Amino acid sequence: MGRIVSIGECMGELSETGSPGMLSMGFAGDTLNTAYYLRHSLGEDWQVDYVSAAGTDGLSDRMVDFLKSEGIGTDHVRRLADKTIGLYYITLKDGERSFTYWRNDSAARRLASDPAALNRALEGADLAYWSGITLAILSNQDRLALIEALGHFAGKGGTVVFDPNLRPRLWDNPETMRGWVHRAAAVSDLCLPSFEDEATWFGDADAAATARRYQAEGARRVIVKNGADDVTFAGGSGELFRFSVPSVEHVVDTTAAGDSFNAGYLAAELNGASIENAVAAGARLAGRVIGARGALVPDAVTQA
Ligand code: ADP
Repeated sequence: MGRIVSIGECMGELSETGSPGMLSMGFAGDTLNTAYYLRHSLGEDWQVDYVSAAGTDGLSDRMVDFLKSEGIGTDHVRRLADKTIGLYYITLKDGERSFTYWRNDSAARRLASDPAALNRALEGADLAYWSGITLAILSNQDRLALIEALGHFAGKGGTVVFDPNLRPRLWDNPETMRGWVHRAAAVSDLCLPSFEDEATWFGDADAAATARRYQAEGARRVIVKNGADDVTFAGGSGELFRFSVPSVEHVVDTTAAGDSFNAGYLAAELNGASIENAVAAGARLAGRVIGARGALVPDAVTQA
């Protein structure tokens, strides 16, 4: 039995149903999206746990029940009596989605505030997955605690996988974001950035430059996603490969493209696939996810 922990924030998602006065309620968040696709891509010989924090209120119960109903372990979702989960609301106007967030004081911002609980969550896991969003929502002290816990986990042979998921709006300023993201990469075995964001915030000339930069910061392997363009893989021995991704005829909604790619890739790699086949599995799954609306597309995995 293998065990994966995904660390981060899951939020309530409110969206219009088309009926006046009726909203629909779902749950999503980058690390939760990846946990969801990992759970649905892997067999029962893998346990997928979510590591986060929620409140003790009805809304938090609803989120935890949702995770459980998807087969995701919730033993390491800490329950804090004075907090609740973050929420966002999606409006669709002329085909463009825009988001309103209530997350500044969410319970998940305390997910790393108890280092002993963090170490218990990591104990016995094979792989820990986290992101730049996980890092962005924490206090400086908790960022350090999480990096230290993951460094310790890696030192004992655990695999740390990090998606930088650059979101400057969650940070005080871009310079702070860049500094912490590099510290995170330093404790990560595999880094999974998306080129467009990296070029914008780090000025990388091409995907190879992104890969080499993260390796220079300490990541052993890097896979750079780039929308419909090639995926670039940089391995631990200095090798660099490029793989094309299948074209998607009707791109409906690119939400969770990167999150689902990561899950498809990791599930295939954990099942023993070659790098090339694991990248293909990630790209196939992401292709299905962007062909439908929403972050969590139940049919995407079975079709893959
Ligand atoms: P993110 O969601 O992090 O911005 P990307 O846009 O780089 O991630 O996309 C992640 C993966 O999703 C890509 O590597 C590719 O496999 C797939 N993908 C995204 N956009 C497209 C597209 N327009 N056509 C085909 N595949 C795509």
